[in-house]
Amino acid sequence: MKIETIFISHLHGDHVYGLPGLVTSMILLGRKEPLTIVGPKGILKYMEQIAESTFTHFNFPIYYIETTPSLFQMIYENDTFSAYSIPLSHKVPCNGYLFREKDRPLNIREEVIHEYQLSTEEIIALKEERSIQTKKGILSPGEALYIKHRARSYAYCSDTSFRPEIIPMLKGVDVLYHEATYLDEYKEKAIQRGHSTTCDAATIAKESGVRKLLLGHPSSKYPDVDILVQEAKTIFEATEFAVEGHTYII
Ligand SMILES: [Zn+2]
Ligand SMILES: [Zn+2]
Repeated sequence: MKIETIFISHLHGDHVYGLPGLVTSMILLGRKEPLTIVGPKGILKYMEQIAESTFTHFNFPIYYIETTPSLFQMIYENDTFSAYSIPLSHKVPCNGYLFREKDRPLNIREEVIHEYQLSTEEIIALKEERSIQTKKGILSPGEALYIKHRARSYAYCSDTSFRPEIIPMLKGVDVLYHEATYLDEYKEKAIQRGHSTTCDAATIAKESGVRKLLLGHPSSKYPDVDILVQEAKTIFEATEFAVEGHTYII
C-alpha cells in the first residue's frame, strides 16, 4: 500500500501478469491514494482491457505514463528522484530504468546557529555554500553544514540481450540490476531469445564502472543460481543475486 509508482519494462507475461492482481489487492484493502504506473506504450490498454473483462472498477486514481522504449529520456520525477528510460534489446519493445536521486537541500547544524547567532541572511549564504564574516571570525559552509549527502543511483535492466550502447547511460551507477538468464555456454540461445548471459551482465557492469551488480531473471535450468553468480564474478567481483522480496540498501 506504500507503493506510489510502479515501473514496468515490457509487456511480456512474466512482467505484467502480476500487476492486475496487485492493483486489485489494493482496491480490496481500501486504497484511496493515487497510483502511478510507468511502462511502454500499451500498458494503459492492457490494464483497461483486464478491468473491463473482469468487471473491475479501480476506485482510486491510476495515472499512466507511457514510455517510448527506443529513447533514453527522463520520463518521471518527484521531489526526491528522476527516472530515465533505458533502451534495451528484446523481442518486444522494452526499456530499463535509471533512477537518480536529487541532491537534498543542505541544513545548518543547530548548535552553530546558536553559537554564532546567525541571521536568516547568513543562514541562506551558508546554505548556498558561501563563507560569511561573523563577530567570531570567518565561518565556512564546511564548519556549519551537515555532511553533504551523496546522491545515489540505481538502474534496472531487464529483459535484454547484450547491448553495449547502454554503458554510457550507466556510468558510475551505484547498483545495477541486470538480467542474466543463461550461463555463457548458452550465448547463442541468449541472442536468439533476446536475453543475456552472466558474462554479458558482468561486462556491462565492469565497463560502466558501477559499484554493485545484482543478477536476476534466471532460466529454470538453474535451480541453484550460485553457478550464475560465480561465472559473473570472473569478470565483475561485486556481484550478487537479487532475491525477490529482499531490500537492498544503496
Ligand atoms: Zn521478456
Ligand atoms: Zn522476462
